[in-house]
Amino acid sequence: MAYTFVRDAKDLRGLKNVMGVDFSPKKTCTYDCIDCGLGRTNTLTTERSEFYPAEEVFNEIRSYIREKGAPQHILLTGSGEPTLYAGFGKLATMIKNEFQDLKVMVYSNFSLLSREEVRQEVALCDIVWGSFNTVIDDQFKKVYRPHESIKLQDVREGLKKFRAEYHGILEPDTRFFKGINDSEKNVDGLKKFMKDVNPQKYYIFDPKHKGEPLAEDFIEMIKKKFIDLPFKIEYNV
Ligand code: SF4
Repeated sequence: MAYTFVRDAKDLRGLKNVMGVDFSPKKTCTYDCIDCGLGRTNTLTTERSEFYPAEEVFNEIRSYIREKGAPQHILLTGSGEPTLYAGFGKLATMIKNEFQDLKVMVYSNFSLLSREEVRQEVALCDIVWGSFNTVIDDQFKKVYRPHESIKLQDVREGLKKFRAEYHGILEPDTRFFKGINDSEKNVDGLKKFMKDVNPQKYYIFDPKHKGEPLAEDFIEMIKKKFIDLPFKIEYNV
């Protein structure tokens, strides 16, 4: 059987056997990030939609698991921002009810967490990964090229509210782009913001493949400034 929504399991960020589930038409997103591995955004939107019935996606997950065995984790992702999928909560609930040993995960850009219903649906996941690259407005616009209705302030507040309400594992990441968000002001602002958010782990990336590598002294500066943050930081720089 050819699978449409399910991707073969692989190891990711130290986690074993992570099966991806993709339920977005390519590429439907609230952002049009400069480093998006999927290319430019075709549909830049903030409107949620049940692109495919959640039951159809779930049935495929179930068939895949029957045929190939259960993974340890299911990553709800998409060819775009997964929280734009209006079936997200329904799908996460179906997976958790039927496969109680699996960890359900999401990788989000956090842009819709200002909405209560999105926070509630994302909170169904055991592990939440996501991108948060800057606390500075003009950098936010350059890095993410967001839908015009999305404001950085709302994204910040949404993520903080989510943290306050959520009891699972939150592991955001920051990608620094040379000449765009690699400013000391952003590093200081991120430090303060992440201290408030207080995730379990924070990833720092240098997206070398998409431009010039970061300067060595910048990387040293981040490490020095972040040294006293009260959670684990993993550097991939
Ligand atoms: S949020 Fe993700 S899917 Fe959307 S444009 Fe950025 S990298 Fe691509």
